[in-house]
Order: sequence, then structure tokens, then C-alpha cells
Amino acid sequence: MPAISSKKPYRVGRSRTGLGLFATKPIKKGTKIVRYFGPLLDSRKKKDDAIENKYLFELNGRWTIDGSVRKNIARYINHACKPNAESDVKPRKRKVVIRAIKNISPGEEINYDYGTDYFKAYLKPIGCKCDACEKRRKKKRAEARAERLRLKARAQKKAEKKALKEAEKQAAKPRKEKLEQKPKLELKPKPNGAGVQQNGKLANGRHMNGSHSNGHDRSRAAAQKSAAARPITATRLGTTATAVDLDQQASA
Ligand SMILES: [Zn+2]
Repeated sequence: MPAISSKKPYRVGRSRTGLGLFATKPIKKGTKIVRYFGPLLDSRKKKDDAIENKYLFELNGRWTIDGSVRKNIARYINHACKPNAESDVKPRKRKVVIRAIKNISPGEEINYDYGTDYFKAYLKPIGCKCDACEKRRKKKRAEARAERLRLKARAQKKAEKKALKEAEKQAAKPRKEKLEQKPKLELKPKPNGAGVQQNGKLANGRHMNGSHSNGHDRSRAAAQKSAAARPITATRLGTTATAVDLDQQASA
């Protein structure tokens, strides 16, 4: 880092994009901060015109300051879209001075607007990292996040509504289901069910148990499935109760 006299109201320090120039003392609005300094390039000379770097400061059609020299402290000043300083160009004197356009407090980074050409060529492709642009991006991200949450909440509400509707639809069903299932149950030898079933178990238990319990497993699985998908409602309790009924009857 370049050595800067402590009499100067600034120092070079770490900034968001690398190095930057920071105020070390209060700088009053309107005062000159530092000169943008470097050899003058004449665009009419082939050798001068061939020089290309990020620190060229065009004064007019003919003259350009090559600010890439280390002695040019002003080259550490970063661009900002809402700066606290400006480049005061005096083409006739072939001089550029960086001047405060706001009161700058110690610790604050000094910035000026590099201009549209520089912005388009160097900053736009990589995204400007100045405070104003970062703030704008942050705001945009927050807005996008809020929008995502809003959409998510809406989808959730919609799903809940759908589930409720489904539940209401199911609430009308259980009686019908019971009626449909009844004949199946009647296939079981009910009058002295326990005895017969025991007999069945002894004689041919595998087959009987197998077929019955398979059926119950299916209905239980269905009840569990619907229980997972739907909020707790009368319907779910209804179906579960049916399943339990079936189980009890099966094991009775
Ligand atoms: Zn910016």
C-alpha cells in the first residue's frame, strides 16, 4: 500500500472491491481532496494512443491522463453511483481534481462517479458493487424472498382448502362405505364366529387368516394414507374406527 502523509485527510484501505480511499479526517463539501495525476497522453501520437488500461482519464478528444502510475493516489478511489465526491475536469489546464460534493466523515470511503462510458465498459458486465447498487440488490432480493413466501403461503392455503373440501366430501361417505363393506363381513361365519374361526385356523388357518387379514391390512393402509394426507377430521376418525371394527371382528 502506498505511503501517504499523515497530513492528508485520507488513507488507502480495504474496500468491498479490493482497495479504496478512505477519509481519515472530516472533509468539507466543496473542498479538493486529491488530484487525479499521471502523464498526459496525446491521442495524435500513435505510441500514446496504443496505451490501454483502466486508469485512463479522458480530458477531451485529444488529451488523456494515464492514471495507472503508483504515485496517483486518486486511482484508489472507487466508483459509486451515488458518490460523495466528483471529478472536476479542467481540460484547458489538462487537470483533474477530485472534490467533495458532500461532507465526508472520517472512516467513510471516498467515491466519485466514473461516468457512463466506464460504467458500461467495466462495471455493468460484472455488476456495480457500490453502496447504492448493493442496497438496491439487497432490496430486490428481500422483495423476491417476500414474494416467494407470499406464493408459498397462498399455495398452502389453497392446499388446506382443498384438503378441507376433500374431508367434507369424505365425511359424507363413511355410511356408504360401511354399507358396501357389510356384505363382505357377512361372508364371515358370524353366528358362532369365534368357534368356527378357531376351527378354521386349526384346519386351514393360513388361508382364512391370510385372506381376511390381507383385506384388513389394505383398509388400514388406506386409512393411514388418508390420515397422512388430511388434517384430523371426523372422516378420518370414522374410517379408522371402521378399520378398527374390522380388526376387532377379525380377531374376535
Ligand atoms: Zn453502483
